[in-house]
Amino acid sequence: MIVMGIESSCDETGVGVVEWDGETATLLADEVASSVDEHARYGGVVPEVASRAHLQAMVPTMQRAREAAGIDRPDAIAVTIGPGLAGALLVGVAAAKAYALAWDVPLYAVNHLGGHVAVDTLEHGPMPPAVALLVSGGHTHLLGVQNLSQPIVEMGTTVDDAAGEAFDKVARLLDLGYPGGPALDAAARDGDPAAIAFPRGMTGPRDAPYDFSFSGLKTAVARYVEGRVRSGAPVSVPDVAASFQEAVADVLTAKALRACRDRGVDTLVLGGGATANSRIRSLAAERTAAAGIELRVPKPRLCTDNGVMVATLGAHVIGGGAPPSPLTVATDPGMSVQISKL
Ligand code: ATP
Ligand code: MG
Ligand code: FE
Repeated sequence: MIVMGIESSCDETGVGVVEWDGETATLLADEVASSVDEHARYGGVVPEVASRAHLQAMVPTMQRAREAAGIDRPDAIAVTIGPGLAGALLVGVAAAKAYALAWDVPLYAVNHLGGHVAVDTLEHGPMPPAVALLVSGGHTHLLGVQNLSQPIVEMGTTVDDAAGEAFDKVARLLDLGYPGGPALDAAARDGDPAAIAFPRGMTGPRDAPYDFSFSGLKTAVARYVEGRVRSGAPVSVPDVAASFQEAVADVLTAKALRACRDRGVDTLVLGGGATANSRIRSLAAERTAAAGIELRVPKPRLCTDNGVMVATLGAHVIGGGAPPSPLTVATDPGMSVQISKL
């Protein structure tokens, strides 16, 4: 069975195609058009700009995906209905409905966050019960996954900024451009991660064990830089970058490990664009190895938003026997991944 996935929740227009054999999905096409450059001058994703870019990119991206997969039409279409930007989601969902109607194939509405988890199976095979740590420009979540055709449990999330957003804001403060995550990662390579003791948010004994907060950390970095500038002292960009990055990676991986222990699972899956960060990767590798936990990290292209993740989750949902969604299905910008909070 050929499943097509359509993704438009943020600034990537993605159309992916997978073949589903009843147990595993195989990648046939992965076409992505990003409007990230159009947002750079604003220092963040502008919803209206993203929506318009999706409108322009959707049909050509769809064409490229069909050509790459060598198919005329799929057997089913999966589409992200949330969470994400309202206008951006509307474009993908409207397109998915139109194609489903025109091709007379069933439509499956899926959750974007579940897609970030499901995509790992393309490289690493069927997923055992696991904890997933999703970190991107818009999301920071710890998820409990039983299997991919059942609802995922949200264990915790950020109470303020997303981790990738914190990278972007601190990078901006350090004049490293947008999106600043990769530049900050590069700058940190020459810095000392122990140079400045930045705070580890939400790690007190009374704090929610799986929730995150990065806004205090961002403020601490801003205060540190301002203080140095005011007193005429030099600011070492590599040291600030490395110390900030260490604080983020430390909290993310410590809480992810704790979540694995508490759920009694021995697999940790990473997802989202900020998992490209070298320190998040290396610390996750170190700590999972020490704890005897298997670490699964999709390749960077599959960690950022794309259509294949949507197709892969759709295939698992179909495999689990779920009925198709009605063509009247609505977008759900604030969609939760979960049934209950753990
Ligand atoms: P969504 O939140 O819906 O998944 P997004 O577009 O905000 O979408 P992605 O495209 O998955 O997120 O990832 C982009 C984010 O990842 C940006 O915030 C970027 O700065 C961050 N990022 C990318 N590479 C790195 C890196 N090496 N280190 C830190 N952050 C990074
Ligand atoms: Mg993006
Ligand atoms: Fe995403």
